[in-house]
Amino acid sequence: MTITQQDCRALDAQDPLRTLRDLFHLPEGTIYLDGNSLGVMPRATPARVADVVTREWGTDLIQSWNKNDWFAMPQKVGDKIARLIGAAPGTVVATDSTSINLFKVLSAAINLSTADHPQRKRIVSERSNFPTDLYIAEALCKERGFDLVLVEPEEIAAALTPEVAVLMLTHVNYRTGAMHDMPAVTAAAHEAGALMLWDLAHSAGAVPVDLTAAGADYAVGCGYKYLNGGPGAPAFVWVNPRHTDRFWQPLAGWWGHATPFAFTPDYQPAPGITRYQCGTQPMISLAALECGVDTLLAAETHGGMAALRTKSLALTDLFISLVDERCQGHGIGLATPLDHAQRGSQVCLTKDEGAYAIVQALIARGVVGDYRAGDSGKHKDILRFGFTPLYIGFEDVWHSVDHLKQVLDSGEWQRAEFNQKHAVT
Ligand SMILES: *Cc1c(COP(=O)(O)O)cnc(C)c1O
Repeated sequence: MTITQQDCRALDAQDPLRTLRDLFHLPEGTIYLDGNSLGVMPRATPARVADVVTREWGTDLIQSWNKNDWFAMPQKVGDKIARLIGAAPGTVVATDSTSINLFKVLSAAINLSTADHPQRKRIVSERSNFPTDLYIAEALCKERGFDLVLVEPEEIAAALTPEVAVLMLTHVNYRTGAMHDMPAVTAAAHEAGALMLWDLAHSAGAVPVDLTAAGADYAVGCGYKYLNGGPGAPAFVWVNPRHTDRFWQPLAGWWGHATPFAFTPDYQPAPGITRYQCGTQPMISLAALECGVDTLLAAETHGGMAALRTKSLALTDLFISLVDERCQGHGIGLATPLDHAQRGSQVCLTKDEGAYAIVQALIARGVVGDYRAGDSGKHKDILRFGFTPLYIGFEDVWHSVDHLKQVLDSGEWQRAEFNQKHAVT
């Protein structure tokens, strides 16, 4: 059965989340399918940031640490993020970057594991994990005399041997959009005596997550993707409360101290997740992140993450079906799982030749996705499209595939201008 533009319009008319689009500044003539890389700016952000700059900083100056609650911002924003990831209040802080937070939790996990099981000296992750996660793990393993073992997704269970201290995975794969079964994988890690660390960079605000129900040990996540916090927004860190007070993390700066304003020469970690902070946090960026997180919390009165998930799957299903119906004969493949239980909020197409140029040609037409390079082996070049149900509609999906079809049918992507690589892809 062919899907028509009219069908897509009808789906938009029935969409219970449709009005949430008005919370965002969407540039005219752009269909933005890159919210998985840099989320769209909420309409509330410029005024809020201007207020932090002109009133809180400009007028209230140093009194803002108390008067405008600056000092508690990482916990305040952390508590809002907690609602999206199944974490209890007081167990998340919004702070530093994902890479830095990963260093902290992985260090803490190594300390915890070593205290109970000194013979376990291995960290397992996936070869196709986001590189910064692997780089941080590699560096830490070198420093601590651990080894890092990288496997394919189907080899994870077999890799959980008695040497393993920590299983470190990204919940939704950045290249393919494939999603792990968080409760099952966490249970398998625990069964094998390993700790479970999740990176939620492509999950928080994108798919329902329940860290508490899964019984995970540590998690980190990103503020500028689906949380719409702005470029370089603070990331977040969660530690299961059963572990938080057992160890410090090594970036033991004064913002993680129990009494930072006592200015004592020795370190006493703050109780709870506050000890995962390091130094002074960026207030302007935290205010922008809060505006972004608020756009997701606005969905709570429209069915929350469950409703976002239903729409996200409907959007990605529609995109996959339309590409299948309308873009035949160009050697386009699908890297994203068809099974809903294994799919994040993005669709990744493969093409042996021209993936980068096709993405550039689409961007020139106002359809913004991105490109991720393959390798010479198992992974092909990828055209990546993120679907953010807060601001993407069904007719947007129609237009995106229509443009893709035109780019492919006309061979427009072969033009020289679309084949020049930029520094950031
Ligand atoms: C986006 C992303 C990061 C980003 O890390 P930064 O420290 O913000 O640069 C890390 N890990 C994963 C899995 C990501 O998708």
